[in-house]
Amino acid sequence: MSVVEIPAGTPTAQDAGEGDVPHVRLAIVGTGFAGLGLAIRLREQGIEDFVLIERAEDVGGTWQANTYPGCQCDVPSHLYSFSFAPNPGWTRTYSRQPEIWKYLRDLATRHDLYRHIRFGHELTGAAWDTEHGRWNVETSRGAWTAQLLVDATGPLSYPQVPRIRGIGSFKGTMFHSAEWRHDHDLASERVAVIGTGASSIQLVPEIADRVGQMHVFQRTAPWILPHQDRPTTRVERLLYRKLPFLQKAVRSGVYWSRESFLLGFIKNRRFMTGAEKIATVHMHRQVKDHDLRRRLTPTFRLGCKRVLISNEWYPALTKPNVELVTEGIDAIRGNTLHLADGSTREVDTIIFGTGFHVTDPPSAQLVRGRDGGTLAERMQSGIQAYLGATVEGLPNYFKLIGPNTGLGHSSMIYMIESQLRYVMDALRVMDEQGIAEFEVRPDVMASYNAQIQSKLPGTVWMSGCASWYLDADGKNTTVWPDFTWRFRHRTRRFNTKAYILRHEADVRSVAEAAA
Ligand SMILES: Cc1cc2nc3c(=O)[nH]c(=O)nc-3n(C[C@H](O)[C@H](O)[C@H](O)COP(=O)(O)OP(=O)(O)OC[C@H]3O[C@@H](n4cnc5c(N)ncnc54)[C@H](O)[C@@H]3O)c2cc1C
Repeated sequence: MSVVEIPAGTPTAQDAGEGDVPHVRLAIVGTGFAGLGLAIRLREQGIEDFVLIERAEDVGGTWQANTYPGCQCDVPSHLYSFSFAPNPGWTRTYSRQPEIWKYLRDLATRHDLYRHIRFGHELTGAAWDTEHGRWNVETSRGAWTAQLLVDATGPLSYPQVPRIRGIGSFKGTMFHSAEWRHDHDLASERVAVIGTGASSIQLVPEIADRVGQMHVFQRTAPWILPHQDRPTTRVERLLYRKLPFLQKAVRSGVYWSRESFLLGFIKNRRFMTGAEKIATVHMHRQVKDHDLRRRLTPTFRLGCKRVLISNEWYPALTKPNVELVTEGIDAIRGNTLHLADGSTREVDTIIFGTGFHVTDPPSAQLVRGRDGGTLAERMQSGIQAYLGATVEGLPNYFKLIGPNTGLGHSSMIYMIESQLRYVMDALRVMDEQGIAEFEVRPDVMASYNAQIQSKLPGTVWMSGCASWYLDADGKNTTVWPDFTWRFRHRTRRFNTKAYILRHEADVRSVAEAAA
């Protein structure tokens, strides 16, 4: 981890005392792709009056937190990176966590962002102050006031652990894949891995040979497509370095081929049938045992849950020390897992590959709008925003990668870049038109969300599986159900007509009248 020097003169939370709270134009929470990307854009425009608040001890977000063995991106590297910061040196076609994390750390260094970041500062609350027209931002180590609050806390940054009876009595070691215990030696241990989602299928093959016995608990069998990952050649890297347009062309090719996949998700089920055949052949090639194959055969359409890619998952499950368990865990007592069929498994360590709080992000409980209610309270019928970014009742607030911006077919970095343009355009319009406050109109937000929801029926995401795209009421508040270029188009301009605005002149005259 890098140790960061904070230059003298930068307002810090430590400077803050009673009545001496530093004020910034923007308080940005989170230093993943979204928070760092915005900071880069701000500095490019000469805006320095911002602070980045980060609970971790380094930048990188997802790619700083998820250090489990085998952690890897499932979108090709050329697309899973900023278009304005291509990396000709990717060593694999699909990057692994250490390389993406390094990419983000290098960006933060190159753009001189570290001096804006306050590490080890966890956002504990942010409340809109109507009287002063600003946000009061509280963190574990100090406070700020800010004209704008940008919530870049990430869609997959709060690990979720299932409630299992007696879990507190477990005598061994437990951890989530996003909080990997590198200090814990798994050698020869009896290990339970709970969940068979994106993280588990990457980590199980990596640790299978190291552990003594492994029990992999599967609720639903995922679809697994063959992986196309390979090391890049020196010639490729040299060509990208010398001829940047070539890398741009490759990125563009990857982007458009990914956009074509969307047809299968939203329109043409035959496309999915083809992909399902490829996945089935892949499993038949790698799993010879009929009973194991039966239990590994998904019971929903490919794409309904996140599509996974791996060449190592099935071989790992056929190893003699690995057991696929499809019975649920009823209770835990001591080191014993009691299963629904009455059988038991003794384990030393439990690893949760059970995903994240996606539709119920804890950060929504921290943000209080104009009426004093939290974002979570406002969104009891499902989390919503306008363009996945602005929320009625929350003036001067942007959520990055908010509701209905998630993708099943392409790179989230494309969506993040779209929203960065939107935020930057909002700042431009605010400056040009002397806008002090904006708040999305309730009718605009409602009709936008009605439009999103009207596109979802008939898509593969709504074809009847339980997935993390759906909230507790079965509403899809996660996925952008259209081509990503349409999202880019819709976010290209900050349209003032969608907002209730308060101009600086009005704010001044109210203040003068009060004085
Ligand atoms: C294992 C894994 C693999 C993934 N693979 C892909 C992929 O292949 N393709 C793809 O498109 N997407 C993938 N994703 C999704 C990924 O999260 C996004 O692509 C992207 O990295 C999100 O960036 P972000 O900046 O919005 O959020 P994050 O990277 O999650 O960053 C959020 C930051 O906010 C900080 N934070 C959160 N709460 C607080 C708080 N209260 N106070 C202070 N700081 C806070 C966190 O510490 C974190 O640094 C993957 C996610 C995971 C977990």
